[in-house]
Amino acid sequence: MAGNRSIIDQLPEDIWVNIACKVVNNSTYDLFRMRSACKLFRHVGKSQHVYKNASLFDIGLEPFSLCIHNSTRLFLEQCKLSCNAKALFRFGFDHYFAIRFDTSNPLYLIRMAAMNGHLEAMYFYSVLVVCSNELEENTRHVVQFVQRLITLGALEKCRDNIRCILLAGTWWVRNIPLISQQRIVCRASTCSTSGSMPQRHLQYKLNEGSINVTCVECRLDFEVLVFFDILSRIDFE
Ligand SMILES: [Zn+2]
Repeated sequence: MAGNRSIIDQLPEDIWVNIACKVVNNSTYDLFRMRSACKLFRHVGKSQHVYKNASLFDIGLEPFSLCIHNSTRLFLEQCKLSCNAKALFRFGFDHYFAIRFDTSNPLYLIRMAAMNGHLEAMYFYSVLVVCSNELEENTRHVVQFVQRLITLGALEKCRDNIRCILLAGTWWVRNIPLISQQRIVCRASTCSTSGSMPQRHLQYKLNEGSINVTCVECRLDFEVLVFFDILSRIDFE
């Protein structure tokens, strides 16, 4: 035992932090077990680097307040405080749909997740901003998110992921989103697609396929229409 401890002590702490990162990205619960092994592992397992980079792939998206063990929730809270984009998105998503609005601002959390590179958060935040009068000043800003998703070829996948999360988890959706009348993002008189989104959306629904819209603002207008469709399919209790 003493020999093992000396080997542990011989390695720099950074090495153990990197090992803890690999462990948590294999299994969150393996990290919990690692942290219980000794004082050093408990210390490195609670480092900001671990919280910031945890993949959280093995923690479901169901409402945190209702369904997960307290230790997991505490871990997610620490990840959120360390600006882990996946944790920010999960809390924002959870607070937006599952919990009556409280002191936290779900849109702020989703925006933070988007700013930290979370692709689904970029999509979700963009359509919500267009639907929310209170955040009108941010509309031009979110066009950059949509442009980035288009450039990465990730926009449709993000939409599908959001759709899957919402439609698979309708039992926990408690909030009807604060959707106001849709604003039109593209108002450019020179845009060849501006104003044609409802017709294109109808075509999309008939074909269930992708559409080709080159104007980024128009593409955002289109995605908002698709998002309305997704919301209309949720069976709010
Ligand atoms: Zn346009």
